[in-house]
Amino acid sequence: MFNTRVGLCIVLAASIRGARVKIADDVNIEKDSSANQVDIAEHRPAMAKVAEEAMQQKKTKFENAMASPYHTALLIIDVQDCFLPGGNLGVTGADEIIPKINEMRTAGDDKLWKTVALSQDYHPAHHISFASSHPDGKMINFAEPELLMCVDPDGQKMKDIMDANKKTSIDEDIASCCPNYAIQGASDPANRLARTNGRYDAARANIHHACNVCKNKKHCKAGGQVLWPDHCVQGTEQVGFSADLTRKEDTDIVVRKGTNIDVDSYSAFANNTNAVKTDLHDILQGRKPITTAANHAAALPEALSTAGQKLSTKIKTVLVTGIAEEVCVQFTAIHAKMGVGRENYQVILVKDAAKGLSDAGERKAETDLEKMGVIVVTTQDVLDLANKRR
Ligand SMILES: [Zn+2]
Repeated sequence: MFNTRVGLCIVLAASIRGARVKIADDVNIEKDSSANQVDIAEHRPAMAKVAEEAMQQKKTKFENAMASPYHTALLIIDVQDCFLPGGNLGVTGADEIIPKINEMRTAGDDKLWKTVALSQDYHPAHHISFASSHPDGKMINFAEPELLMCVDPDGQKMKDIMDANKKTSIDEDIASCCPNYAIQGASDPANRLARTNGRYDAARANIHHACNVCKNKKHCKAGGQVLWPDHCVQGTEQVGFSADLTRKEDTDIVVRKGTNIDVDSYSAFANNTNAVKTDLHDILQGRKPITTAANHAAALPEALSTAGQKLSTKIKTVLVTGIAEEVCVQFTAIHAKMGVGRENYQVILVKDAAKGLSDAGERKAETDLEKMGVIVVTTQDVLDLANKRR
């Protein structure tokens, strides 16, 4: 996925170079011909009509996608203290989306959707995505991620590992990644921790599962890992949801992600290797019991009233909100749209109820998602629809 990003950057740079040439041509034409400007003025009413029709089409599409509250779910991605201003990985202005999400819940819970699901970034200490887990401890961004190799979920080696571990599906214990710098030597896959004081250590790579398997490149797929500050660590206060966020503890679905120490997970549906799904998709399709905050907190979750309870209808439409728009929100929307199992979803991004790391990142995420067929709306559009359904 990150390789694609790097690839995209190269394509983008090339097209920007192309665009410069084209802009120069256009300027010349405009200078030479005032007739062009007259033509544009004449066509302005027609252009406005086309824009109006496109707006209307989008509105109809949005309303059709939201036709049934029983088949619609509101997804709230990572609205946790660790991602809010003051948090370990605080996103400037992210607190501004909370009143919008709350307002949508007041107007839309039951009327527009019967199901609400929250994702929770939930990392063990020394997670692979933390800069502090790597020897030089430097944070790095999307442009130049730390390069990794991850055990290929579709490869023969993964099948062998599953057989050896008597497993019928890939789970977090056997799907993992290793930084390129740590891949080398020897052969005891029993101990997966190739770390010294929490950091990956090339000298101990031989006893790390992925570092060991990925010595043979054909068993693994290349990936990249952005390195962040330590954030959303299990057992810390900041890992919790914002106290300002409206929640229904007993019924809101809570799905945790990023729980594998050796694999990051931006999407609420699956980790970054796509090898391990969270339970979200199966829960939304009524195949697995819902998990709430109460379920996660209880020592004996089976004793709770919600234990074993499944959704009685399959979700077909998801509205996506949360933090950060061009990372976890976008990856979740892509998985929902492209399909993370047998089904995919109609996806609606509520753009002002999602906050990105930068304005440019937000705009790019919105444009890219719209190109994929995601319907991009505002909080006001959702509130208007709720009003209409009164
Ligand atoms: Zn994270």
